[in-house]
Amino acid sequence: MEHVAVEAVDDEANALAEHEVRKPLSRALGTDYLAMNYFELSPGESFSGGLHAHNDQEEVFYVASGTARFEVGRDRETVAVGPDEVIRFAPGEFQTGGVPADADEGVVAIALGAPGASHDWDALDSVVYCRECEAEHVHETRPVEDGQFQFTCTGCGYEFAL
Ligand SMILES: [Zn+2]
Repeated sequence: MEHVAVEAVDDEANALAEHEVRKPLSRALGTDYLAMNYFELSPGESFSGGLHAHNDQEEVFYVASGTARFEVGRDRETVAVGPDEVIRFAPGEFQTGGVPADADEGVVAIALGAPGASHDWDALDSVVYCRECEAEHVHETRPVEDGQFQFTCTGCGYEFAL
């Protein structure tokens, strides 16, 4: 058995995202098959860095308070997820979520991913602008040095780091 208080878990921001409070609960618990993160987002903050998909994980968010706004799919359908609501994204489904900058209150939420307590970065895709294609394209995304990520355009193969 493992038992921890959320407030006792140190904050650790996602390298690609803007948020002040992200607590990796699954690491504190030593989970084998489940990733679990606690978030407190202020208006303007996000869970993740942008539109992305995990090809090896489904993701579920439970919103405890406030209203999170997600953009889903390549056409960025907007979905509001309010208090005591849950939303699930299938493996390979593109999504990004956060709190609009003009929101009146922040969000407290739990994010769950399975299987896998840590990401297989080879299975992460992000939608970002490709200056060679001069359009948004899916990019294979993997971490490199200094908290940066390398993006490889699946349209033209152009590579860059951010
Ligand atoms: Zn390209």
